[in-house]
Amino acid sequence: MSAYLELQAIRKQFGHTNVLNQINLQIREGELVTLLGPSGCGKSTLLRCIAGLADIDDGKIILDNKDIVNVPPRSREIGMVFQSYGLFPNMTVSENIQYGMKMRGASKEERRKRSEELLAMIDMEEKRGAYPQQLSGGQQQRVALARSLAVQPKVLLLDEPLSALDAKIRKSLRTEIREIQKRFQMTTIFVTHDQEEAFILSDRVCLMNKGSIVQEGSPEELYTRPKTEFVARFMGSYN
Ligand code: ADP
Ligand code: MG
Repeated sequence: MSAYLELQAIRKQFGHTNVLNQINLQIREGELVTLLGPSGCGKSTLLRCIAGLADIDDGKIILDNKDIVNVPPRSREIGMVFQSYGLFPNMTVSENIQYGMKMRGASKEERRKRSEELLAMIDMEEKRGAYPQQLSGGQQQRVALARSLAVQPKVLLLDEPLSALDAKIRKSLRTEIREIQKRFQMTTIFVTHDQEEAFILSDRVCLMNKGSIVQEGSPEELYTRPKTEFVARFMGSYN
C-alpha cells in the first residue's frame, strides 16, 4: 500500500503514563479509516498529535511524503472537527466557513463562491446569515464540517463528531459525512467509541485499547476473527 498519511511508532506520555504506545498506521489517499475504542484509550490524543495540537515523544508522522512532526499546526493542512461544535459564536455561518480562507489570504470573491458551494452541499444556504446559537446541534456540526473542508485540507480528522447528537440526527449525519468524504475523496480519520458507527462508516477499522492499536481490519474481520478477548468482547458488546 502506498500511504498518504503514515504514523510510525508514535509514542506519547503524560507524566509517567504511556498514553500512546508505538502506534503504526498507514492510510491511503482518499480513504476513510475509523479509530474505534473505549473512552480513555487515546483516540483524541492521537488525533491531537496528528494535528499538531499535542507533541509526540517519539515517532514520525509522514503526510504526502513529508515528515510533519516539526511543522506548526497551522501549516500542516489538516482539518479537525470535534465533538463539541466549536464554531465561533460571534460569527455567522458563512463567516465561520470563510474564516480559515480569510486567514490564508483568499480573495473575497473566492471565499464567497466556495462558501456558497459548501452551504449548498450541506443544504444550509438559507442559514448563511444565522449565528451558531440559532442552529440545532446537527446543523452546527454540518457547518463545522463545511468550515474544515473550506481550506481544502490534505487530511480530515473527525473526533466523535456525532456523539453529542441524538440518535436520529446521528444516523442521517453519518450517511451525509460518508457521502461528502467520498465526493471530495478526502483522506479521513473518523474517531468513535461506537462499534455500530464504525461498522457502517468504514472499510477499515483500527481498534484501540490502552494506547495501542490491537487489531486492524474490515469490520467483518474484527467481528468474526477477533485476535484477542478484548477485541471479541468489544466488538460484541453492543448487540
Ligand atoms: P479517548 O479520546 O480515547 O477517550 P484520550 O486521548 O482523551 O482518550 O485520553 C487518553 C488518556 O490520556 C486518558 O487516560 C486521559 O486521562 C489521558 N489524558 C488526555 N489528555 C491529557 C492531558 N492533557 N494530561 C494528562 N492526561 C491526559
Ligand atoms: Mg476522545
